[in-house]
Amino acid sequence: MFNALVITQPESGYRCELTQLDEAQLPASGDVTVRIDYSTVNYKDGLAITGKSPVVRSFPMVPGIDFAGTVTQSDHPRWKAGDRVLLNGFGVGETHWGGLAQMARVKGNWLVALPDTLSEREAMSLGTAGYTAMLCVMALQKHWADAGVASGSGDVLVTGAGGGVGSVAISLLAGMGHTVVASTGRPQEADYLRSLGAATVIDRSELSAPGKPLQKERWIAVVDSVGSHTLANACASTRYGGAVAACGLAQGMDLPASVAPFILRGITLYGIDSVMAPMARREAAWDALAKKLDRAQLKAITTEIGLRDAMAAGSDILAGQVRGRLVVNVNA
Ligand code: NDP
Repeated sequence: MFNALVITQPESGYRCELTQLDEAQLPASGDVTVRIDYSTVNYKDGLAITGKSPVVRSFPMVPGIDFAGTVTQSDHPRWKAGDRVLLNGFGVGETHWGGLAQMARVKGNWLVALPDTLSEREAMSLGTAGYTAMLCVMALQKHWADAGVASGSGDVLVTGAGGGVGSVAISLLAGMGHTVVASTGRPQEADYLRSLGAATVIDRSELSAPGKPLQKERWIAVVDSVGSHTLANACASTRYGGAVAACGLAQGMDLPASVAPFILRGITLYGIDSVMAPMARREAAWDALAKKLDRAQLKAITTEIGLRDAMAAGSDILAGQVRGRLVVNVNA
């Protein structure tokens, strides 16, 4: 038997509870069994745990879109018992039982080898949010390489700065020598954001209301985890030839923008998806995280909680009350 969060939808209403499952109940469609050490609570996990958005597609469901642990049994040619692995996305925690549990059975094709220099806890301190931040940074790096832009040649805006994607993006970009402008709705977290490397902290209200289609040119690039008016204003304030990596919708799924920044300033909008990203890009992102991330900052970004606490944390993250990353010790 093992502990797991399980979401059900009986007639009495949507429910998430901590319960015990038998290993024999693990999904038969998987070919690798993993003993999980750490999972996380991402924004999407918050949606799944609370039922606020229909991300869970079948019931009962074990939530948790990512995990790190050790293979205990494998019918997949790439993996054997004892291998250290991690997983992000592929519908895990949405359509296939996920990581907020002590065991998982998943498809071997979805697993990434845990880089030697990352512990299971560090990997999940980063989790899907950190890996997505790296995908955003990689898109910008490719843009800068193509355009011949050097580090430090202008400000880079990070929105949703106090959240998981935002915190890791600030740390990565500042570590590469970029001047980071952090946009947050939590001015009380300004010192925290500066400790991660933000040069300037702005109030998110500067960006969150409807704005003009073309505004003063402020940044060479943007990592946006917020969407809606914030993304529209971020694009409208991006300098000529700049780039915006959009990955999130914390403010909203809409994009009330005009074509002006694209056709008059030649800016590029990169869409970032972590869930179905090809394996080569995933592995490159995790390798880069293992090499580039400042471990002291990762500690500062991370709060550890137990499996039972993950249920309340699901509501907290949707309310924008979580600073940085929540790592879940599933055995605590
Ligand atoms: P977090 O909740 O940790 O961070 C989101 C941050 O956005 C909050 O901390 C807050 O930062 C800000 N925010 C919250 N509500 C609002 C609002 N109404 N208006 C403006 N800003 C707001 O989530 P994650 O970092 O884990 O994820 C961020 C987003 O990225 C989510 O929408 C998530 O779904 C998406 N995502 C997408 C992925 C993909 O594959 N494309 C993968 C991972 C995440 P502050 O208080 O500093 O303003």
